[in-house]
Amino acid sequence: MPDPADSINLRAVLACGFCGQNLQVQGDGSAQCAGCGQRYARTAAGTLDLRLQRSKARELCFELGTPLAVDPSLRIEPLVASSAPQVDFTGIAVPQHVTPEFMSYFPKAREPGSLMLDLGCGQAPHRVLAERAGFEWVGMDYDEASRATLLGDAHALPFRDESFEFVLSLAALHLFRFPWVVANEVHRVLKPGGLFLGTVAFLEPFHDGGYFHHTHLGALNLLQHAGFAVQRLAPSQDWTGLQAQASMALFPRMPRPLTRAVMFPVEALHKLWWRAGRLVTRNPNAAEDARIRNTTAAFAFVAAKAA
Ligand SMILES: [Zn+2]
Repeated sequence: MPDPADSINLRAVLACGFCGQNLQVQGDGSAQCAGCGQRYARTAAGTLDLRLQRSKARELCFELGTPLAVDPSLRIEPLVASSAPQVDFTGIAVPQHVTPEFMSYFPKAREPGSLMLDLGCGQAPHRVLAERAGFEWVGMDYDEASRATLLGDAHALPFRDESFEFVLSLAALHLFRFPWVVANEVHRVLKPGGLFLGTVAFLEPFHDGGYFHHTHLGALNLLQHAGFAVQRLAPSQDWTGLQAQASMALFPRMPRPLTRAVMFPVEALHKLWWRAGRLVTRNPNAAEDARIRNTTAAFAFVAAKAA
């Protein structure tokens, strides 16, 4: 895995998650804050651990008494591939959970050494995509068992303001205790004009360690509150609540093709039922988009920080 000590670009943007001042990587690979003096050690596995070492107070302001502003041009419908994709992913072994439509919104690095933050990177399956797009991949996770570049707390990102052109967060937002703080942090570390792409659980089953599964309005509210312009908010068409329940809760560890086969009759009947419903009503709540939205396991989003 890449290491902060080996990257001039990454070292230049490291900051203390507690006080925000510059971090200096020491000869032994640990880091020290030039502001508050906090030392950040390495884990037994050798990963630089920039997680908060002491509690930190954080205030956010919420404006009450105003409705959520929903841009009428923002349609809550399955993601359609971008008409102007910037990156050619031909020949790359793409992780199963990343669709071509979603990847078509990946930005291309503006210059060599541009940084991309993979927030909640897990076992680093997206590194190959980031590097194809020309970015230096920075994988961050809270979990020591991950294959992250560094460990950190998403509520107090250990980076300077405006460090990244692109932040990716797949299936992670629902795992955060204070998601408004996290969204605010992502906005802070993005460069002007930077993109925040991700997915968040909706009708997935119980997650060990999960806090908030997001509806479309929940995701929109969260992102807009942080200052993002939400360009796409899309229910997943393939990853349905039924599929998620089947593969994650009803029949865990069952091979995916078998799960799909088991659920096929239920899903077929469900779709038929809705189709029949549309013969007797033109109510928009009976439309195909509504069916997909109402039964999806996750929403994908494309959000931008103002240039
Ligand atoms: Zn500090």
